[in-house]
Amino acid sequence: MDVALAKAWLDTAADAIAAQADQLTTLDAAIGDSDHGVNMNRGFGAVRTALAGAAPDGVGAVFTLAGSTLVSKVGGASGPLYGSALRALGKSLPEGPEVDAAAFGAGLRAGLEALRKLGGAAPGDKTIVDAYLPAVDAYDAALRQHGGDRDGGLAAAARAAAEAAAEGVRATVPLQARKGRASYLGERSIGHQDPGATSTWLIFQALADATAP
Ligand code: ADP
Ligand code: MG
Repeated sequence: MDVALAKAWLDTAADAIAAQADQLTTLDAAIGDSDHGVNMNRGFGAVRTALAGAAPDGVGAVFTLAGSTLVSKVGGASGPLYGSALRALGKSLPEGPEVDAAAFGAGLRAGLEALRKLGGAAPGDKTIVDAYLPAVDAYDAALRQHGGDRDGGLAAAARAAAEAAAEGVRATVPLQARKGRASYLGERSIGHQDPGATSTWLIFQALADATAP
């Protein structure tokens, strides 16, 4: 992955979030406070603007800028959570204009760890973690199979991650929320798809789209 592809991923994610903002807000209306689409759209719109006005000298710098932008522009739980994940991804990458698929995968996992450290959510708590964790596991598994591909396995790993995230989103429906606003509903949170897991899927699907050959 090079600087242009890193930016293309975040631009693609911003497009997808803008297109699905109403849907994310509808999901949040059922078990939260109806702002997830607004929060995410504001945040990723600001990321798009920040990246357009900057010339990051490395792949890591693209993600640290994006992460800091999300932390500063988004109120709500999701801004600091996604912002910390992107900052940790950026900081974990080796310096330079290009990183390989394995380093990027390790960075995605460093992002997940930062998000879990901040939010304290375990798998099954009906949060972002329920899409993000299966996505990085699937990424690593696919990379072991496709590491010899021309792109080092990045596209295949991203596709596998997006599919696993989608499955993780579906699996949030029967769960009871144990973190975030939805947890205040107790058993009434059961039967609804988690908004944050859904936006995580959009972000991994954007990675698959941006890296597709
Ligand atoms: P808020 O809950 O402050 O209104 P958003 O609506 O933007 O923020 O985001 C809600 C989403 O954030 C939830 O659907 C859930 O997936 C995610 N979330 C909330 N708390 C946590 C947490 N502690 N760890 C991981 N994800 C969380
Ligand atoms: Mg909300």
